[in-house]
Amino acid sequence: KAVSTAASQVPRYVRVNILKTCVDDVIEFFKRQGYAYLGKAASVEELKALSGKKFLLDLHLPELLVFPSQTDLHDNLLYTSGHIILQDKASCLPAFLLGPVAGSHVIDACAAPGNKTSHLAAILKNKGQIFAFDVDPKRVATMNTLLTRAGVTGCQLVQQDFLTVDPGDRKYSRVTHILLDPSCSGSGMVTRGPGEEAAPSAERLQALAGFQRRVLSHALSFPALQRLVYSTCSLHQEENEDVVQAVLQEWGSAFRLVTAFPSWPCRGLAAFSGAESCLRASPAETLTHGFFVAVLERCREGAAAPS
Ligand code: SAM
Repeated sequence: KAVSTAASQVPRYVRVNILKTCVDDVIEFFKRQGYAYLGKAASVEELKALSGKKFLLDLHLPELLVFPSQTDLHDNLLYTSGHIILQDKASCLPAFLLGPVAGSHVIDACAAPGNKTSHLAAILKNKGQIFAFDVDPKRVATMNTLLTRAGVTGCQLVQQDFLTVDPGDRKYSRVTHILLDPSCSGSGMVTRGPGEEAAPSAERLQALAGFQRRVLSHALSFPALQRLVYSTCSLHQEENEDVVQAVLQEWGSAFRLVTAFPSWPCRGLAAFSGAESCLRASPAETLTHGFFVAVLERCREGAAAPS
């Protein structure tokens, strides 16, 4: 069931788009608009206590500002000009934890509407190459607008089923990092308005998990891949730990889980030994949407695809 309890407690997170501006300038802008800047938060409790026209710098992510949950910035000039991105904190974790260095070649496999892609471009400082795929033409069109507004260059956006992208194509021979944020049940999404989505049926969960396993395994078959982040906004173990476990088993010793954000308080469910390397996020524990992230790394060069 979509999370509604504690929804009103989730703050308004604002990612500073460092392709267009910097944190200090954005802080000054908001101060001029009458907001009081309280400095860097030391705890999640401080974020929870925010009210009125006050804001903080997040304690975990360097370019993330935090405002009270009822703050609406959709008409703010900084937002309409792409200087800030309104993106939940949990959704900022995948690109941050993938952490490609400038100049890297990166795939964003299920990319639209593109908030994580623009975050990746910012981390790369627009240096390198992003190949972004999405199967849905409407979402690709929206993403084009968003990337342009965010000042993203060096990103090839392709409307294509990622499962049909050939890992052997020389175009991708330097792809060392993949961000995989596939379609999921969305059961972790906080609904701010009325109306909750029904819980996904067992059949739907099974279908989603099947797709997620296929697409994760496909991503691991890119020959130069070193690091991959798998994320969902689902609360269901079937779409999260179970997918990671199944695909890691399929690939034998070729890939391993690395501890995602060691100081993050909320860990993967103990579905298998090592699952605590994954992280989870939730309104109650981390003041974010419900989310899951796993970071995988290649163990050794030249690992063969599973038979
Ligand atoms: N990463 C995006 C962001 O942060 O803005 C959100 C991605 S959303 C959770 C999942 C996306 O996967 C959807 O836009 C959907 O159209 C796309 N998708 C689903 N199946 C796909 C496939 N086989 N190949 C590529 N994209 C796919």
